[in-house]
Amino acid sequence: MVDTTIHDRIADLGRKVLGGSMIERDDALFLFQLESSADIHDLMSWANRIREHFKGNKVHLCSIVNAKAGGCSENCSFCAQSSFYQTGSPRYGFVDPEPVEQAAEEAKKNQVTAVGLVAAWKGLNEGPMLDEVCDRIKEMKEGGNTRPDASLGLIKNQRVADRLKEAGLECYGHNLESSRRFFGHHCTTHSFDDRLETIGYLKKAGIKICSGGIIGMGESREDRCDLAFELRAIGANVVPINILNPIKGTPFEHNPPLPPLEILKTIACFRFILPRQEVMIAGGRTVNLRDLQSMVFTAGASALMVGNYLTTLNQPVEKDLQMLRDLGLDPDWDDEGFSSQQDRCGSGGGCDSTGKKRELTAA
Ligand code: SF4
Repeated sequence: MVDTTIHDRIADLGRKVLGGSMIERDDALFLFQLESSADIHDLMSWANRIREHFKGNKVHLCSIVNAKAGGCSENCSFCAQSSFYQTGSPRYGFVDPEPVEQAAEEAKKNQVTAVGLVAAWKGLNEGPMLDEVCDRIKEMKEGGNTRPDASLGLIKNQRVADRLKEAGLECYGHNLESSRRFFGHHCTTHSFDDRLETIGYLKKAGIKICSGGIIGMGESREDRCDLAFELRAIGANVVPINILNPIKGTPFEHNPPLPPLEILKTIACFRFILPRQEVMIAGGRTVNLRDLQSMVFTAGASALMVGNYLTTLNQPVEKDLQMLRDLGLDPDWDDEGFSSQQDRCGSGGGCDSTGKKRELTAA
């Protein structure tokens, strides 16, 4: 049964967001702490209204192509591609044009707006590799099949971001991953501030930001809340929510899975805090949500990562498209005017691999 006091407070906050105001951290924490199934469903019904109000029935679809796999110098505890762990994940150098073209064509066929080039390395500096990355972006842009996005790790100077922009990049995926407080629990080879610095260069270059995180790493609800507020503060355009899919061989191998209702509640809370952004459900949804996958939209999600993830398999794109049709939702594949619209960016979702095994496959 819905507690009327709780019900009234959720409704007040829902009306506040629908009216164009922002909720404060204390109110958001109250939402994150909801426990009963009745209260969580009540919260979701408001999140759904907020999604419909700001996004209509459009759902933004993105996919990724793993442009450079495995052997990463960083020690992110969730990642199959870190060289610190024995995970059996494939390794290869930066890809040739063909697999990228193939991914772009697949994307167009499946009404996917953007394909993100994702590389497993610490970051990108000036030099021959940046030239090659820019070539792939230009080729994708000229091919006209999809919007090229990228997620290429840390950027250490403005010139790199400017070169990416000149090549035609509109959106860059760079997750904060967690709250500042929790960051050191999953990565010690670079810092939360390194990530913020990269986002600063990208924004200065005029590139839109796809930034979110991973839930289920052992962080608290307060950490999830603070992550959402950080993302609001940096002005993220797209906010991917990944759900940990524990990888054998990584430090998070034995992490217990989050209950599906806790995941849906988190999505709803993000929608309350980030009402105008694309809240995108990315890695880990199939394995963690099982039959409840379609409820991510009722919980407030407005974007979906489709196709295979970096190192895990997802359900087939056709199944996702059918799910959208069944829900009366439309893939938002028309990218006209993207540059001028704050809310319509998509990306590969960052280099936050959360899976077990993959072949080089896009979409
Ligand atoms: S998440 Fe990215 S930076 Fe971290 S280990 Fe994996 S590929 Fe490297």
